[in-house]
Amino acid sequence: MVDDCIFCKIVQGTIPSKIAFQNDEMIAIHDINPAAPIHILIMPRQHIASTAELTEQNVPLIGHMVLVAAQLARENNLEDSGYRIVTNTGADGGQTVNHLHLHLLGGRHMTWPPG
Ligand code: AMP
Ligand code: ZN
Repeated sequence: MVDDCIFCKIVQGTIPSKIAFQNDEMIAIHDINPAAPIHILIMPRQHIASTAELTEQNVPLIGHMVLVAAQLARENNLEDSGYRIVTNTGADGGQTVNHLHLHLLGGRHMTWPPG
């Protein structure tokens, strides 16, 4: 728990959110400012700032987060149309909240390369 971290507060429940999934190691919430019809954020309960902080110890957690993202895509009927899972790291990556999270985006066509 990091005091000034908005996602730690969401994990603690002190800031409300619309929860899509939760278990003992992560929670998934609907993005407050969705960039697509389906926009879900999957984050560990543990504060990890970004992919830049990951260690070998976090490998199972990251694997589980990707699996949950794929499961949420299935539940939201995105499998046939497709979807995008992305994580932003640092300033050039466009990261605005320094608590690791995957974005699950779907329900519209995504362009490549991203802006
Ligand atoms: P990033 O820019 O990759 O760090 O993503 C941060 C995401 O968190 C953005 O898509 C924001 O819209 C989203 N966000 C920020 N505050 C909240 C909140 N209180 N509840 C839900 N999503 C949030
Ligand atoms: Zn945090």
